[in-house]
Amino acid sequence: MKKTLISNGHIIDPANGLNRVGDIYLADGKVERIDLEGTARQHDEGLEIIDATGLIVAPGLIDLHVHLREPGQSAKETIATGTKAAAAGGFTSVVCMPNTSPTIDQPSVVTWVLEKAKAEAVINVFPSGAITKGIAGEELAPIGSMKKAGIVALTDDGHCIQNPEVMRRALEYARMFNLTVMDHCQDYALVGKGVMHEGYWSTVLGLPGWPAMGEELIVSRNGQLAELTGTPIHCQHLSSGGSVRILREARSRGIPLSGEICPHHIALTDESIRGYNTNFKMNPPLRTQRDIDLLIEGVADGTITVLASDHAPHCNYEKEVEFDQAPFGILGFETELGLFLDILVHKKKAIGLPRLIEMFSVEPARLLGLDRGTLSVGAPADVTLINPDLEWTVDKEQSFSRSRNTPFHGWELKGRAVRTIVSGKTVWAL
Ligand SMILES: [Zn+2]
Repeated sequence: MKKTLISNGHIIDPANGLNRVGDIYLADGKVERIDLEGTARQHDEGLEIIDATGLIVAPGLIDLHVHLREPGQSAKETIATGTKAAAAGGFTSVVCMPNTSPTIDQPSVVTWVLEKAKAEAVINVFPSGAITKGIAGEELAPIGSMKKAGIVALTDDGHCIQNPEVMRRALEYARMFNLTVMDHCQDYALVGKGVMHEGYWSTVLGLPGWPAMGEELIVSRNGQLAELTGTPIHCQHLSSGGSVRILREARSRGIPLSGEICPHHIALTDESIRGYNTNFKMNPPLRTQRDIDLLIEGVADGTITVLASDHAPHCNYEKEVEFDQAPFGILGFETELGLFLDILVHKKKAIGLPRLIEMFSVEPARLLGLDRGTLSVGAPADVTLINPDLEWTVDKEQSFSRSRNTPFHGWELKGRAVRTIVSGKTVWAL
């Protein structure tokens, strides 16, 4: 039996309200014991000892919004390379999006992803399934049989069901199978061919605008549908300050509506697009400083409960085209924790370290009913060691991803993961 002692680290386990220095023992892929006194330190033969002095010992981080690109788009990313990049960012579990080729919209594709992950992934991969066949927004996918095959959530991410009646039926089905629906909020009529935030800079640059209202209208609709059906709806990658206000109001009335933000939406504004660099093109788009302030306020007051990357790798040749032609999205795994620590904890002081860890562990686990996100005795031994004060420089050439599309190359950040442990085994260390 393999045993590991992570000694003398600062353990932060929000699920158990734990926030102090101690030793943690892992055995047989599970958390065996936590010793806060350090008095009965074991020295069994074959015990692997990891010195965590000065480090944060957190439950393995969860990213519930990632694109691993398999099946079908392995030139951008594979389950093997994507999960390596995730491990290097401190993540032990990811929820992958179904907009692959073929779409994850039937049980056979779910099984394919799970088997591929079993063979090649270095961390846990939880697939989500499409709400509608081919993510076309028209006909419901076989939700029950996909759940049986192992999906943990439903989403048409990358697309948005426009017909509220189809969405209502999807929510009613999802409820029967106890599945959360995650939504990419975009009203097609309002957004049209928009490629960047509609405002001053889209006018200056002569690019078609993607108005904030294109997101807000769907967040608002989702609040009403979540209230009607009782099915939880999670609004993905919120970019607009107005969305936060709508979400706050819905939550104050007890409606099961939640939201996440991604680091780029609080690290960058639409002004970054001045040079027409396609690494600043994402969907929803970068918005204004006012939006950033309101998103951060939403994190601080608990309106936004989840942090995620929307890791979206693309090949160089796909991004090296005119701005309107380029695909949306950027890499996320290896810069995500550093950006959120740097902005939310160090610079803005919007939240403390325990809440940041909670938003990466307990919150996503609870939202999707995952058996993860805690260091409780008997839980899977997924652990992330973090040095919250380590200063480092982002170097895209060091990335484990197959792609290189990041706007953060050369950025200096404070804080990062230094070791990632999955089921008791170190899968990455700095
Ligand atoms: Zn999306």
